[in-house]
Order: sequence, then C-alpha cells, then structure tokens
Amino acid sequence: MAELAHNAVLPMHPPPFEDETLSSWLMRLARANGTKFYSLCRWIQKSNKNIGRKLDIGVPRPFIHRLAYLTGLTERRVMNTTLDSFIGFLVPGLQKHHHFSGILMAGIERYAELRYLQQFCPLCLRDSNPFFRKSWRITFITACVKHEIRLQDRCPQCQAPVVPFKNDTKNQSIPFEGQWSECFKCGFDVKYAPILRAEREVVRSTKLINSILKKGYWDLGNGEWIYSFSFFSVLKHLMRLVIYKERKPYSKVQVDSIDVDMRYWAFSEMNQIFDLWPDNFIRFAESHGLFLYDFYSMYKTNPVLPFWLVEPLKEHRHFPKVAPESDHVKCACAYLKANGKKVNKYSISRLLGVCNSFVIDQIFDQEK
Ligand SMILES: [Zn+2]
Ligand SMILES: [Zn+2]
Repeated sequence: MAELAHNAVLPMHPPPFEDETLSSWLMRLARANGTKFYSLCRWIQKSNKNIGRKLDIGVPRPFIHRLAYLTGLTERRVMNTTLDSFIGFLVPGLQKHHHFSGILMAGIERYAELRYLQQFCPLCLRDSNPFFRKSWRITFITACVKHEIRLQDRCPQCQAPVVPFKNDTKNQSIPFEGQWSECFKCGFDVKYAPILRAEREVVRSTKLINSILKKGYWDLGNGEWIYSFSFFSVLKHLMRLVIYKERKPYSKVQVDSIDVDMRYWAFSEMNQIFDLWPDNFIRFAESHGLFLYDFYSMYKTNPVLPFWLVEPLKEHRHFPKVAPESDHVKCACAYLKANGKKVNKYSISRLLGVCNSFVIDQIFDQEK
C-alpha cells in the first residue's frame, strides 16, 4: 500500500456485491490489492482506526467519500454497503450512540468482537465468491431464503463469534491468505458448519420481512399500508412478548442481543400472524394471552401506539369490565413511573382500560 500515491485509485477495485457489507467488501478489496484489512482502512482514512470495531455502522462521511473516489463508484453505492442504509426502513432515524433498533447489537462498540452479531448461512459461504451480507446483521432475519436453512451466529467448534477480519490480525506483517469464513479463534471454516433446515413458515416470514425492508412499507391487504419502521417496531415487541411469556429468563435481554436460535424459535411461534390482518394476529394474541396493555411498554419514550395495531386490539383484546390481574397492575405502575407520569388509582385504571377495581386498590397500596 505504501508505494501507492495518496490519491491514486486502487489498482484493483471489484465492486461490492448486492447486499454485501462494507467490511466484507473491504476484506475483498484488501486481498485483491495484496494488503491487510486494517492497512487499507488506514490508507482510506488515517484517523479512522475503528472501522472494524464499528462494524459498518456510523461510518464517517469522509471515509465514504474517499472510498468512492478510490474505487470509482458513487458515494451512494458505497454508502449502501453500510448498515446506515437501513435508516428510514428499520428505524425512522438514528438515536443516541448509533442505537439502531433491529440491527444485532448495534451501537455496542466495546468488545464487539466478543458478541454474536455476525450471522451467516454456511451454504451461501460455500459459493465460489463468498461474502458477508447486510441482511445477516438484522435481528429479524434468522433463515436464508435461498437455501431454506437456519442462519448461525457462532463457530460450531469453539463457540466463538464470527469476526472474519480478525483473521488478518494473526500475523502483523503478512496479509491473511486463508478463507475469510475461518473462525479467527480456532481456524474452523464455518462454511462447513452443520446444516439446519428452516421450517417452511419461518422461510415465508423471512421473505415477507425482506420484501417490507426493500419496499419500505407493509401492505395490510385492505387498501392501507404502513411504514416499514412501524411494522418492525411492532414485530420486535411481539418477539419480546413471546419470549417473555414462554421463556421468562430471557425477559430482561434486549431482542437485538438474543442469540439466533432463540430469535428463530420466536419466529416459528409467530407463524403467519401478519397474514389476513388482523385475523391471524388476534388468534395469536388469544392463544398467547396477549392484551392491549401488553403493548403499552412498546416504546420507552413515546407512549402512542400505531393505529393499525391498536384498533384490532381494542376491539378484540381489551375488556374494560374485567378486573386486571395483579401482574398487569404492577406492569402499569412500572410503566407510569418509567415515563414520569403520576401513579394513582385513576391513572392505573385508565392505562389498563378497566374500571377501578379491588386488585388495583390492593397493588396500589402495596406499591405506595
Ligand atoms: Zn444461503
Ligand atoms: Zn472456532
């Protein structure tokens, strides 16, 4: 790299594949030009030593600008390799610290290499031109629709997370010459991980998620459509509820940090719930004991729920004359407190949509 003038265009500059991540593309660019991954990153932008650690999120504009110049591509095309390109689709906008709902552990930079945030399909990696995909970093994608198998998130031999470019740190001076799909810890090539067939329904839901993500909206099928980020915020909360109701130990874990097997299981439980909206969803809510108030905790800061969700729930899963269970009253108290609202018998019954009841009196007196 040193012999190239600062402003020379990269001698070899294969373009990114469709759905390829920036870091995956940079690994291929580094290899094509006979250099190391980090040397290439430093050459693109001297001050940017965190490109690997940030893992394709919050990539600085000057980096994108210079990489576009060096590869002869448009900035838009380069930007599209970053996970920031999902802004407006998965989330309406970025929050603090690159918090990015729907991306596996986005925003967590510290010890990123120790976390399971890179999923993969072993059969895709056996392709003659293997690369790592943006869609494998999405919380809601747990199966490969092409091969109809389950995604995996760790080395089957030593359980280490998959961090391809860490292979390049094994030898300080010589670029890594092995397969990028090798485990950086034990050297096992994860493309030979055992294959796990995906259930047909999970593949179908994954296709729906892919199409919503591509179009930016979801068609409810009754002439109405909603923004994709509204759909994904509900999907995420549903995953949280399913996991909470069935497997409580996971209740405190953030959905974006849950391992692929648990997320896959949550999806298999949510079989077809978005078909024939809202009929299947209501049937699902009945069988899982979900009520309107289970959705009040969906947003930490904005208590307004999407209309397309609230209307069917109000009609079918909201029973103002029935006394609430003590767990629900406790949740309502916690929700009000967390949102800085007054906690009294009136606000609790209003939130739960029930008439003031003996259960509320009892819990309220305990909580005081
Ligand atoms: Zn595949
Ligand atoms: Zn390993």
